[in-house]
Amino acid sequence: MAEGLKPETLALHAGWRADPATGAVAVPIYQTTSYQFHDTRHAADLFALNELGNIYTRIGNPTTDVLEQRVAAFEGGVAALALASGQAASAFAVQNVARVGDNIVSGTDLYGGTWNLFANTLKDQGLEVRFVDPSDPAAFRAASDERTRAYYIETLPNPKLIVPPIAEIAAAGREIGVPLIVDNTSAPLLCRPLKHGAAIIVYSATKYLGGHGNSIGGLIVDGGDFDWEAHAARQPALNTPDPSYHGAVWTQAAKPIGPVAYIIKARTTLLRDVGAAISPFNAFLLLQGIETVALRIERHSRSAEAVAGWLSRRSGVRAVIHPSLQSGAARQRADRYLAGGYGGLVGFELANVEEGRAFIDALKLFYHVANIGDARSLAIHPATTTHSQLSAQDQFLSGVTPGYVRLSIGLEHVDDILADLDQALVAATGLAARTGDAA
Ligand code: PLP
Repeated sequence: MAEGLKPETLALHAGWRADPATGAVAVPIYQTTSYQFHDTRHAADLFALNELGNIYTRIGNPTTDVLEQRVAAFEGGVAALALASGQAASAFAVQNVARVGDNIVSGTDLYGGTWNLFANTLKDQGLEVRFVDPSDPAAFRAASDERTRAYYIETLPNPKLIVPPIAEIAAAGREIGVPLIVDNTSAPLLCRPLKHGAAIIVYSATKYLGGHGNSIGGLIVDGGDFDWEAHAARQPALNTPDPSYHGAVWTQAAKPIGPVAYIIKARTTLLRDVGAAISPFNAFLLLQGIETVALRIERHSRSAEAVAGWLSRRSGVRAVIHPSLQSGAARQRADRYLAGGYGGLVGFELANVEEGRAFIDALKLFYHVANIGDARSLAIHPATTTHSQLSAQDQFLSGVTPGYVRLSIGLEHVDDILADLDQALVAATGLAARTGDAA
């Protein structure tokens, strides 16, 4: 069914037509822990991976399976794994190939939770993450050695909103057998990382995919075109016997199924053992969101660009951070990698911490929350919240100045969004709009 259809269509149709038993068109919520085996041979075959099927919802579930097929399809991948959160997706994506003593090379511009995972938790597990400037593909190669197992970047990382050179980083890795993992959370459908050479995509589905601020979830998508076997020395996790699964060598074990060694291993070892399973109900809600993600991301993008332009003309605003206002190489990359809009995030700078806080406290329509990608407009003052554990110097390096405000522009009418921003700016800065500040 997927052949030739556009991503927008696949986001509505891939993985499901109708319930064979009832004809139901909406995907049923299979709220079950376990599945009755036909007989002992069937059970043994499922456990031995001689046959694929449902065993236990920690490892797989029919509702979740539709979510996985759908996201894999619109990304142009071969298979996906849905997980309890975006954090679980980032962790598993790396742990699936890197083990104690190994390293990965990551861009510095990351979601704070990913930064913590990489700089502290994975480090505690004996896995080193080497951080480099994500705008510099040569830096990824320079930081690599024979134990480098993956590269990692975000498509549109906030607060800086600078798109990295995805194709060049991917190519630098492929030359030496290193797959690029791209966190595409902020740019679903706008960016198609697999088309630019990424091997693996991770998502916090909590954000734009779900889109309604009601469910935490994550996904890993396997592009299926990375030749793990050709780089056996570089990728031992997929090419040497795995004692946790009867000595299976994943590149061989997956062959009868397809080019899915990476994602099968993640499901049958990490998900089985660590257990970060998504609930079928959350998978259902995320599927519901994905039906409209193409439309929503267009509207988020259009309104965010309008807000960025308006802020850039508004008195009291020191700087506006948005791809439409960038120039040079960063702007060229935003235009190359993001098709149909720059996403829903906008940053701007007020004079100091006091103004940043006063602005947030004055908002009436925007929600003050630590989230992005909701249908509703959201705002936060990173210096006193998400980035408050960092030193002033580290805040600055990460792009957070004391007066920085992050906006996630929602689906309200743009006039109402601008009116709320305007009254909060008056409250925070004491400056009303001048002639020329107009929307
Ligand atoms: N990646 C990005 C870019 C994010 O913004 C987030 C959450 O804010 C995550 C990953 C983690 O996702 P979750 O909160 O679903 O665990």
